[in-house]
Amino acid sequence: MGRVLNFSAGPGALPQEVLEQVRDEMLDWQGAGMSVMEMSHRGKAFVGIAARAEEDLRKLMQIPDNYRVLFLQGGATGQFAAIPQNLLGDKGKADYVNTGSWSAKAIAEARNYCEVNVVAEGGKNAPLGIPLQSEWRTDPEAAYLHYTPNETISGVEFHWVPETGEVPLVADMSSTILSRPVDVSKYGLIYAGAQKNIGPAGLVIVIVRDDLLGKAAATTPSILNYQKQAEADSMSNTPPTFAWYVAGLVFQWVLRNGGLEGMAERNRRKAEKLYAFIDQSGLYRNPVEEASRSWMNVPFVLADDGLDKGFLAGAEEAGLATLKGHRSVGGMRASIYNALDEDAVDALIEYMQEFERRHG
Ligand SMILES: *Cc1c(COP(=O)(O)O)cnc(C)c1O
Repeated sequence: MGRVLNFSAGPGALPQEVLEQVRDEMLDWQGAGMSVMEMSHRGKAFVGIAARAEEDLRKLMQIPDNYRVLFLQGGATGQFAAIPQNLLGDKGKADYVNTGSWSAKAIAEARNYCEVNVVAEGGKNAPLGIPLQSEWRTDPEAAYLHYTPNETISGVEFHWVPETGEVPLVADMSSTILSRPVDVSKYGLIYAGAQKNIGPAGLVIVIVRDDLLGKAAATTPSILNYQKQAEADSMSNTPPTFAWYVAGLVFQWVLRNGGLEGMAERNRRKAEKLYAFIDQSGLYRNPVEEASRSWMNVPFVLADDGLDKGFLAGAEEAGLATLKGHRSVGGMRASIYNALDEDAVDALIEYMQEFERRHG
């Protein structure tokens, strides 16, 4: 069997071109006579790879100079704990918006460190959506406000940026980073686990405004301490060198393919096509309100869940992999990250259409 179209929510598909380059450079990176995996992280070659990756990410996201970019370990989940430890300072409370499973995990972790004020809860019944900011109960004394721009499991996404005034805005962009342009200056901190739109799992990228550094609690583990990691160029200890290298290749690929504007145009088209098909169908249904539908993760259910097994088996046979929904919500989920092009969405729609013809 050749490569399949991988609709996994994470780790997700990577651009084939990037994988081919990784393969070609695997044994001998650009004449170094060794793999990137075998290089000293302090050597000239790797330091160059690391710096180029940061430079390209800065270019892509137009990250202002007063932000630091950190390449850390422990995934996005590690940041659920790192954020309160680094940002609370002398404040004992933080605001969190709860729009789904990942928000809830971030909240649970933050409760180990501070009083969490849940400013709003997303609906648990269909249609799922995002509570209007006018209804949020925010606290002007909060150390920061945390939200999840894209809920990977339920497919609920903010298509707007919350306004928080003086309170730093913190965003878990794990499943939406690099999917479109973003105004970094509106945020105090952006973080993203790599395995959706960036590269291998384990790596997490943190983009943090300078003035938020240096406030970490004394008990903060040094590898999670933003100030210390910024001073050490994210090399307080051995960084995840190979993941960092692959992330850099993905950044180059995004730059070659129209940057974030190019990604946005493609992603909007892909998502609109898939939702339009689902909406007109008699067999499939998406439970999210139109204004809050994710461009990256498209959950859908079949009118009769007795058909789920047959749907998934047929999809596998057609080379469409990992369409099963998250175990907590059931049904199906098509994650259509940057690496999946419009042809992949067309192939999915064609299969869904054919399945509906036979079973609808
Ligand atoms: C995948 C994901 C996470 C968890 O990432 P890990 O790297 O497994 O810790 C957190 N938040 C969101 C929004 C995600 O999609």
